[in-house]
This record gives sequence, structure tokens and C-alpha cells, in this order.
Amino acid sequence: MNPRQLAPLFSVILFAGILAWVMNTAWNAQASDIAWTDFKHKVEAGEFDAVRISETEAHGRVKGSATGTPQWVTAHRVSGETELLPLAEKHGLEVRAEGVGCSALDSAMLFLVASAIGVTAFVLFRRDPGRGVATFGRSQAKLVPEEGTGITFDDVAGVEEAALELREIVAFLKTPDKFTTLGGRPPKGVLLVGPPGTGKTLLARAVAGEAGCPFLSISGSDFVEMFVGVGAARVRDLFRTAIAHAPCIVFIDELDAVGKTRGAGGPGGNDEREQTLNQLLVEMDGFDNRRGIIVMAATNRPEILDPALLRPGRFDRQVQVDRPDLAARIKILQVHAKKVKLAPGLNLEEVAQLTPGFAGADLANALNEAALLGARRDAESISMADVKEAIERVAFGLEKKSMRLSPQDKKVTAFHECGHAIVGAASKGGGPVTKITIIPRGFALGYTQYLPEERYSQTRSDLLDLITRLYGGRAAEEIVFGDVSVGAQDDIRRATDIARRMVTVWGMSKTLGPVDYASERQTAFGYAVSDAGARSPDTAEVIEREVRSILERCHSRAVSILLDHRALLDEMSNNLIEKEVLDGDPMKAFLARVDLATSLSDPPTDEYPMPKEEP
Ligand code: ADP
Ligand code: MG
Ligand code: ZN
Repeated sequence: MNPRQLAPLFSVILFAGILAWVMNTAWNAQASDIAWTDFKHKVEAGEFDAVRISETEAHGRVKGSATGTPQWVTAHRVSGETELLPLAEKHGLEVRAEGVGCSALDSAMLFLVASAIGVTAFVLFRRDPGRGVATFGRSQAKLVPEEGTGITFDDVAGVEEAALELREIVAFLKTPDKFTTLGGRPPKGVLLVGPPGTGKTLLARAVAGEAGCPFLSISGSDFVEMFVGVGAARVRDLFRTAIAHAPCIVFIDELDAVGKTRGAGGPGGNDEREQTLNQLLVEMDGFDNRRGIIVMAATNRPEILDPALLRPGRFDRQVQVDRPDLAARIKILQVHAKKVKLAPGLNLEEVAQLTPGFAGADLANALNEAALLGARRDAESISMADVKEAIERVAFGLEKKSMRLSPQDKKVTAFHECGHAIVGAASKGGGPVTKITIIPRGFALGYTQYLPEERYSQTRSDLLDLITRLYGGRAAEEIVFGDVSVGAQDDIRRATDIARRMVTVWGMSKTLGPVDYASERQTAFGYAVSDAGARSPDTAEVIEREVRSILERCHSRAVSILLDHRALLDEMSNNLIEKEVLDGDPMKAFLARVDLATSLSDPPTDEYPMPKEEP
């Protein structure tokens, strides 16, 4: 902390001191203060029944007042005075060595309590470090020198797709006029989406560096203020600064801190954030982007953002930045290896193989740690042993955050995803699988399978295929490991949802007939089937039985498809474990071996009879 940051702390302590002093004085003023000689006379005259003696004062309690509200008479002791104690004892008074009212000790206590409250408040304030009274309402954006950040796309490795999309932004920033005369709608907001440490900030800086333009950066959490209006004022200032420096990049890190869906933050206390968000929306609509201002933002939780932020003219472009796969990790390691002294012949590919699930920042971190270990050995260069130990250290941190993919996780995930792919290819309902990866995405480690856009299938047999495919992951785990993981949670939820709709909404069950048993209502995320529809307990039981029978039949169908393709499943999964991604031609080659005939054996049905489709 620099002295400026400590200033508020000192003012808080000073304030507490003054408060304690004022309380002390006010308190003592209540007690009557008499001359020392008078006090002694009162003791001798027997007017008191007790005295309290402190270093500087003496208090006498008026005789008889002890039972009601005690009345105290105070006098300041003459310095060096020693008569009072013997005198009080001689007259049989109760003597105590303390003061009534607010003594110095009480004041000290008061001071401590007030300071503690003050310091707590200060710590809460410090969510926005560096704010002094003087900087109220002024944005904390720091402006990197005009020429730009000096970072290029070469510094960000393994994110080719993202970089490709961002090159257009660079072109626009270099010559904003040329872009618009061709009739293109100038870009305005770009949202970088991806887990922490995958290079989002670095990419934004690279865009500024490539375009040679200023880079204004601020973090969403900087906006979250205690005082109403301050965040909004900062947003205004930020955009004013940007306009003055156009063409330039405004980068808002942790956009989710300020951009959460309005009214979704629990009771109370969100007015400030909502005001800030509203101001951001106003500013984004307001500025003239033909001047060449690009607002970039980063988040790892796009799903919680207010939809208004993603509308056209705001953050309408999204660039996905994923955790790197094997090939990308090699490239990232190559970038960072230039900064350290590796032993000749050290194999970065091997390092990449040891670090599945590591983000770019983790890899940089591991190489840095390895350099420190090497230095501790007084070595000339970093050995593979150093690197391995460093990886373990970084991985331990990731393990605690449960972001690391252990070899066993990797294996289970690979078989699970290949199970989906093979079952999907064997059943005609879903589109072809184009890409699968076992690199964890997002916080939840949901290993999203890259299945293509799911056209919501319309026929009963399409839906059964879809459910079957959803069970492909779980079925593969059962067959191969004889055990199951929690990885199928989302699959099961989706399968159950579809089956329930088949029965209660789409009238696809023979037993229940073509009747709407659900009250379906529209939510922000599409339709949700509510169970609260009016129906008898008996009907509810039948519904559950029907849903379950659909799910169980699809599940066993998935199992039998995979048993038929066991060799392919093994081969494909092992390939995926090795490469971490599977797409393009290798993917096509594997799926071409899937026997489509299997899919024609629909599960035995007693669902509501539908006209048979042409195969
Ligand atoms: P994010 O903003 O996504 O959390 P950062 O951009 O702050 O991640 O990355 C932190 C550091 O990690 C970078 O400064 C860089 O050293 C390293 N890093 C992350 N991703 C990459 C990458 N793709 N290529 C090279 N270095 C990377
Ligand atoms: Mg960042
Ligand atoms: Zn799955």
C-alpha cells in the first residue's frame, strides 16, 4: 500500500480519537467539579460514603445515593497529594482505585472500538484500492502511452481462431474511415469469453498493440462502489477519456461484476451496480463509433450477463477463448520458453503432454516456477526435473480449485464424449458430430461436447434418437469402467426433460393419450415444463412411469449400440486422450465406421402410435 492509500486509514483513526475525546469531555462535564479543598472537607464532614481515586481525579459518592442513581462529586487531585487515602480510610469510606464516568481507560476502550469500526469500514472501502477523496468519481482507467501496448498477436499463442476474428477490429482501428466508406457497420463491442488465464486480457492488449492505438483498461469490480452515483460517473468519465483519445480501445475486465442481470442480485444494495450498468448501456449507445472506439470486455461467466449488454450495437460480437489443447499448449510454451533458459534439448512437447487443463497463465507460471527451482540449484539452465516439479506445484493449486484434469478424469471424459459421438452417428436423429474435446471449458468443468446446433427434432423417433445420444456418454462409462461418474448429470437432466415433454406436452404416450398434462410457461431460457399442472396423484404416477420407461429403453439402446462398436469406441477414445481434440478428417474417418443399421432398430414402443416414417 502506498501512503496515499493509507490516508483514509489515518483519517479514520483520527476521527475515532476525536470522538473518544469529545465523549470523555461531555461525560465528565456532567459530574460537578469542585475545588480540591472542598472535596477534602466533604470527606471529613462525612458527606460521602465512597470514593474512587484515580491518578488525576477523585470522585466522592454522596451519602445515601448508592441505592438510587448514585450522585458523584468530582475534584481534580492536586499533584503530589497524598492525604486523601488516609483521610478516606479514617472516615471508613469505601475506597476504590478507579474513576466513575469516562476515565482515561474508558476513553482508550472507546478509541479502540471506534478505530476497529473505522478500520472495518476502510477495508470494505478498499474493494476499490487507491481511491482518495480527491479521485471520487474519476475513472481509474490507466492510459498506456499513445503508441499502444507493444504487444502483438505473436505474444498470444494457440488462439488462432480468436486472433483471426480480432484482426478485423485491428483493421478498423487503423483506418476507421476506410471501413465505413465501404458501407460496413463499424464494430463497437467485443466480448471475450473464456476461463481465467486463457489470455483474454493479453488478446485485448494485442489488438491495441497491433493497431498502434491507446489502450484504456478498467475492471468491472472497480466500478462497484459504495456510494450511489460514483460508478455511473466513472463510466461517463471513461468514455469521455476514450473519445478524447480515439481511435482507441476501452477494455472492461470482469464485465460480469457490473453487468449481472438487473434485479438478480438478491434483495437490496444493487441500485448502485444497476445504475452503473445503465450508464454503461447509455454510453455504448451514445458514442459515435465511426471515430474508432472499440469497447472490449472479458468475462468467464457470459451466462449471467444482462441480455441488454449483448444486443446489437453493444457487445454483439463474442470471441471464445478456450483452454488450450495439446498443440496450443506447445505454442504457448514456445512463447514463454524464450524468456527463460531451458536446458538444450528440453522437449516442450513432453511438457505440454504433462499439462492437460492448464491455461496459458498456468503454463507461464510453471515455466517461471521452474526457473526459480533451477536458480535455487545454481544450475546453468532449467532441467526437465525442474519443469516437472514446477508443474506439480502449479497443478496442486489448480487441483484445489478443481480445475485440473487428472489422467483418470481425462480417460473417463474421453470415453464419455466418444460414447456420445458414436451413439449420435448410429442414430439418425441428431446431426453429425463435428468436434469433440476433453479440454474443460468454463468454471463448471462441463466438458461440452461440440455437437452441432441442435435442431429441436420434431418427430417421436427423432426425439428418441436424441435421448439415446444423450445417454451415450453414461453408457460408455458403464461399459468401459463398470462404474459411472457425475459427468452425465446434464445429459440426464436434458434427457428427462425431453421425455417428460413427450409424455405431458406432445401427447406421445399411448397410456396417457394426446393430452396436455403440463402447464408450460415461457421463461428467459425458453420453455419450462412445470409440474404444477392440475392432475390427480394417479396420473402423476403414470407420467413418472412413462417417462422412466422411455428413458430406460433409450439408455439400454445406447448401451447396445456401444457394445456393437466396442473396438471403435476404444480406438477413438485413445486417440482423443492423446490429442485432446478430435475433429475434421480424423473425426469423419472414425464416424464413417459407425454402423448406421443399428439405429434403425427403434426401441420397442408402446408409446402413442405415430405414423411410421420412411427409413
Ligand atoms: P485472462 O485475462 O484470460 O485471465 P491473461 O491475459 O491475464 O488471462 O493471461 C495472463 C498471463 O498468462 C498472460 O500475461 C500471459 O503471460 C499468459 N498467457 C495466457 N494465455 C496465453 C497465451 N494464449 N499465449 C501466451 N501467453 C498466455
Ligand atoms: Mg484478465
Ligand atoms: Zn455427456
